[in-house]
Amino acid sequence: MHLYTDATDRMARALADLCIDRLRMQAPLDETVPPEELLDRAGLTVTETGIGQDEALRLWEHVLAPACLSIDHPRYLSFIPGAPSKAAAAFDMLVGASSVYAGSWLEGSGAVFAENQALRWIADLAGLPEEAGGVFVQGGTIGNLSALVAARAAVQHVRGSRPERWTVVLTDETHSSVKHALESVMDVDVVLIPGDERGRLTGGAIREWLSTATDVQRESVFAVVATAGTTNLGVVDDLAGIGEVAQEQGWWFHVDGAYGGAGLAAPSVRHLYDGIERADSFIVDPHKWLFAPFDCCALIYRDPVLARAAHTQKAGYLDPVTVEGEWNPSDFAIQLTRRARGLPFWFSLAVHGTKAYGDAVEHTLSVTRDGRALIDAADHVRLLVEPDLSVLIFERVGWSDADYATWSRRMLDEQRAFVTASRHQGKVCTRFAIVNPLTTADDLAEILDSMR
Ligand SMILES: *Cc1c(COP(=O)(O)O)cnc(C)c1O
Repeated sequence: MHLYTDATDRMARALADLCIDRLRMQAPLDETVPPEELLDRAGLTVTETGIGQDEALRLWEHVLAPACLSIDHPRYLSFIPGAPSKAAAAFDMLVGASSVYAGSWLEGSGAVFAENQALRWIADLAGLPEEAGGVFVQGGTIGNLSALVAARAAVQHVRGSRPERWTVVLTDETHSSVKHALESVMDVDVVLIPGDERGRLTGGAIREWLSTATDVQRESVFAVVATAGTTNLGVVDDLAGIGEVAQEQGWWFHVDGAYGGAGLAAPSVRHLYDGIERADSFIVDPHKWLFAPFDCCALIYRDPVLARAAHTQKAGYLDPVTVEGEWNPSDFAIQLTRRARGLPFWFSLAVHGTKAYGDAVEHTLSVTRDGRALIDAADHVRLLVEPDLSVLIFERVGWSDADYATWSRRMLDEQRAFVTASRHQGKVCTRFAIVNPLTTADDLAEILDSMR
């Protein structure tokens, strides 16, 4: 298995060709296949003697890959899609072939150096200080969890005591991963502050809660999480107002920009993020709107020393790794071993330059504005929330849950689009999340027409 033979050479070249074909051509949307049917088509693939490289490759190409939706399809508009640049996707192949251990400086200095320059660009966009830094983790979920663990440790350290229960301030539109991290993983309570008419958390609403809260409630809070681009609505919270309250109260200010943080690179919406420079920690997923392949979340701390205090793992065999002054990515999150998952993003950023990134994000925003105009001009659909970024949430007037489900299924069956139902204020609706620079206004127009 570990020798490079003629057969290995054939396999590696066949694989490389497949990769290049996939980079060159857009795969169709493809489909979701039930397990019985996949078993029928693929059979048992893991056997005592192996099925051989030709058969395994054939199965992937013709049976398994077509049973995975193409997230980078220009008409994949549900959830939050992804749209890796060619450079980033191509470099990911090399990362896989390179056996880089990116958990420590000792083992992966070159990779960590490059990743840190990519993190620096993001920290600069947010206006964070020179010392700011962090690590690329798997996704927003781990990024939020890691930041909140650091937050709790830092606040407890400053106060020198812990309340009976810890609490974090959120709102309804805060991403489910934050509530999950707090309640299920950290055993922390949440207080949900009502959002404004677009679901935005504001400094004013938090102040209102503070004015009625008991001393015990107030003192139990260690952090507030603001969202820079809510997942369902694409709305940016009142970062300046929230940051101000956090500072006054001695709370940690975490900004979840998993989806929307990319908008920092776009001049036309940059003002929406005013106040983010106060953040104690901030995340953005380059695998969402910054054109990196899965899985890649940038987690950045204003003061990485505080994160290190919370996350450094101690064990005798790790002593050679924990050298003072060396930047060990494993010190900044819930992880030890890690893939150099920031490298594909770094490579593409290095190749194309940061301006190309700003332009590409700006382009998706302009297609979103075109889509909004199409919705405004049509009678059968109605916009539900004024967009800040690149999400359009709207309803087809008169449709029930079943109508949306039938339509959504038909669109995928016909390989025309991947558009699913969503909910807003208890009502069924749908949405377009536009992060792919190849998505056009014509794509959106055709999908809207399909709802007549
Ligand atoms: C997607 C998303 C997350 C979760 O990120 P993953 O990368 O899926 O783990 C968290 N917060 C927001 C606002 C998101 O959009």
